[in-house]
Amino acid sequence: MAHHQVLIVGGGTAGITVAARLRNADSSLDIAIIEPSDKHYYQPLWTLVGGGVFEPEESGREEADLIPYGVQWIKDRVDSFDPNTNSLTTRESGTITYDYLIVAPGIQINWDQVKGLKESVGKDGVCSNYSIDTVASTWKFVRELKQGVALFTQPAGAVKCGGAPQKICYLAEDHFRRSGVRDQIEVIFTLAGPRLFAVDRYREVLEKVAQRKGVEPRFRHNLVEIRSASKEAIYRHMDTDEEIVIKYDMIHVTPPMSAPDFVSSSELAGEGGWVDVDKHTLQHTRFANVYALGDASSLPTSKTGAAIRKQAPVLVANLLAAMKHQPAPASYDGYTSCPVVTGYDSLVLAEFDYSGQPAETFPFDQAKERFSMFMLKKFGLPALYWHGMLRGRV
Ligand SMILES: Cc1cc2nc3c(=O)[nH]c(=O)nc-3n(C[C@H](O)[C@H](O)[C@H](O)COP(=O)(O)OP(=O)(O)OC[C@H]3O[C@@H](n4cnc5c(N)ncnc54)[C@H](O)[C@@H]3O)c2cc1C
Repeated sequence: MAHHQVLIVGGGTAGITVAARLRNADSSLDIAIIEPSDKHYYQPLWTLVGGGVFEPEESGREEADLIPYGVQWIKDRVDSFDPNTNSLTTRESGTITYDYLIVAPGIQINWDQVKGLKESVGKDGVCSNYSIDTVASTWKFVRELKQGVALFTQPAGAVKCGGAPQKICYLAEDHFRRSGVRDQIEVIFTLAGPRLFAVDRYREVLEKVAQRKGVEPRFRHNLVEIRSASKEAIYRHMDTDEEIVIKYDMIHVTPPMSAPDFVSSSELAGEGGWVDVDKHTLQHTRFANVYALGDASSLPTSKTGAAIRKQAPVLVANLLAAMKHQPAPASYDGYTSCPVVTGYDSLVLAEFDYSGQPAETFPFDQAKERFSMFMLKKFGLPALYWHGMLRGRV
């Protein structure tokens, strides 16, 4: 039976960042990453791919080139955990044991929770930025629409980057305007929640953005079905349970998401199925040699790569201390960031912590729409990601 000192589940944003930081801190550690995919994608770029700024391929790199030197890649998929015996089972490599486990398999996209979505996405005006297989369809349908109703959705529950469903709506609106068809198109943004954004400081700005652009927000609308033959989106009202039907010409769907099934059915899961970790130390609440970060964790912050950039050094410091039987020295404050694209030359860079307090990086008012921040998203953040974060440097 294979054994590793540190076993990481998921070689995505969180898994690679943590592995790189651990290797940088101590090259003698025996670390393995379990990850089934050949390619890794910088998902924040998918907003701009859907808006026609980049090609889908530009968001991806070979997984083999990202696994840090000296870290073993187990190209496999985890099926189940047994934290009582410090082991997990994989689909092909059997059971693997560990001294320390880091769980980072991301969030699960539940396409089949919206009736008719799986069959229709990518066709007949139905698109989504939430997968490399469907993101190209977003730009195709935005580009092709000359009149009618453009519908954008945000589901109930946690999604990756809470602002992302809105970003593509604003980009599409800007495209319609620039190509002279805006007057012929009604732009509607439906969301299951009661507000456009969780933090008041940025919400107030985004409400004005929506108003200025003539984007109509419809709150408490939860998409339950797509009838692609008649181009109808069927919603349930979150408060009244009433059925609402909206006819569309194109619809961008943010699918429902959840903790991965193999996590939520395991002993590692807490409320809502997420890996149950202390929100400051990132250590599991019941299994002291288990840690988690990123989208699959229970950390009560917006699920973003930016949050992981701050979580990873905390996890690594605390894990290294635990190996020396020392108390946890580092604490995560819930920092997360959401660069809300509001057009092809403007962006509001929201940054805040667990208490919803702004935790802004720059010495100016980030609640203002800025061209400089759009350029940061387009060029600065991808470079920071590939060369800094995934190398364990920033
Ligand atoms: C459209 C879009 C826009 C976004 N915009 C932003 C943004 O502007 N800023 C920002 O910071 N973040 C943004 N995000 C969110 C960001 O991409 C995620 O929060 C981040 O990638 C989460 O990292 P993770 O490591 O937790 O999960 P992922 O990076 O998704 O990695 C999870 C990994 O686990 C692997 N895995 C899954 N199941 C198993 C298994 N059973 N066994 C082994 N491995 C498994 C997967 O193959 C994957 O490689 C956006 C996301 C999307 C989709």
